[in-house]
Amino acid sequence: MKVKILGAAMEVGRSGFLVSDNNTNFLLDYGVLLRKKGKAPAYPLHVKPKDIDAVILSHAHLDHSGNIPSLFISGHNKVYATPPTLELSKLLLEDMLKLEKNFCLFGNNEIDAMMKNSKMMNYGNKIKINDSIFELKCSGHVIGGSTIIIESGKKRLFYTGDINPNGSRLLSEADLELDEIDILITESTYSQTEQMSRAESESGLIKFANEIMEQNGVLFIPAFSVERSQEIACVFQKNNFKYPIFMDGMALKVNKIISKYPEYLRDPKIFMNTLNKITQIRNNKDRENAIHNPCVIISPAGMLVGGNAIYYLNKLAFNKKNGIALVSYQGEGTQGKRLLDTGKISIRRNDVNVQARVRPFEFSGHGDRNSLFDVIKKIKGNPTVLAIHGDIKSCTMFSQEIKEKFGFRSYAPKIGETFTC
Ligand SMILES: [Zn+2]
Repeated sequence: MKVKILGAAMEVGRSGFLVSDNNTNFLLDYGVLLRKKGKAPAYPLHVKPKDIDAVILSHAHLDHSGNIPSLFISGHNKVYATPPTLELSKLLLEDMLKLEKNFCLFGNNEIDAMMKNSKMMNYGNKIKINDSIFELKCSGHVIGGSTIIIESGKKRLFYTGDINPNGSRLLSEADLELDEIDILITESTYSQTEQMSRAESESGLIKFANEIMEQNGVLFIPAFSVERSQEIACVFQKNNFKYPIFMDGMALKVNKIISKYPEYLRDPKIFMNTLNKITQIRNNKDRENAIHNPCVIISPAGMLVGGNAIYYLNKLAFNKKNGIALVSYQGEGTQGKRLLDTGKISIRRNDVNVQARVRPFEFSGHGDRNSLFDVIKKIKGNPTVLAIHGDIKSCTMFSQEIKEKFGFRSYAPKIGETFTC
């Protein structure tokens, strides 16, 4: 079995791995690395559609799915994924097309072709192509998110995709019931970071929200529209939060998609109760009405770039009775990162001090250092390990530690490298 690294080598973004055995070639994920406004996204290495037997998509996030439609410019491939992954991918790809229209390699026709050629599979289904069999298991990272297992000859490969071994309010933990593995491709995002415990993050957020409510303020929570917005709303619901909760933007479309797949949720009842509790914001009038009384507003974008975040910042950030809770990862160069580091935001190219109280909370959909090592502990066999999807330090240190602690052959691969086992 051979693995060629097409992307996500010592970086977070543009995932893509070509897995080959005898006469079968699988492409695992094919994403983009979105960069600052005005800069073209980075793509994984090129592959010819005719050289691939099947594309297997781990989950909907654009760093895993965002370049798949480009395979349909000159070819047709079957794309295998869970039903929620396919539906959410379509939503995110169409959104990317709007935001990045000057840079996208493909258009709506290619997204449509991708959807027409997609093959739904649920966790545990096994698909056979030539002499190889593949399967998806729950990754705990996002709704419909999967790990991927490929068996070919006597070799077995396990790709974690993005993984959360603990799951969340919304999602079950990753399924790590596995047979012996020969190649492990593991994400490394937080391999060098220990995160606040989930219980601490939840109680901290609820306490902060109540403090803001008691001083008659509004708590603005910028959050990614897929999963994080819903997860945060569920946290408030589960903690019997007494004040109104509003939700805005693309998160509302995602709510509709998630409600179609209750079997992919840990506890569909909490999610449905949460949907009944929140008030949807549809337009500027709703927005204007919401901000005058104590309440929580959950709205994209998670890093305060685009979406309705600008509206809420303008209205709420300059009054100290209000609060801003950052519950998503804040990428370098984003407004959210600037706010977190300096307490300022940039408005019309001027840096302005924010008066509202700002607090970060950790609700990551990725496993942290301890839980990533828990994944490695559960791996049976003596695999070759490829540590990808993390910054340089996270991939190289993780690979080094796996070698030292478990004795596995372990690498932080470079883009374009090929490994055989
Ligand atoms: Zn992801």
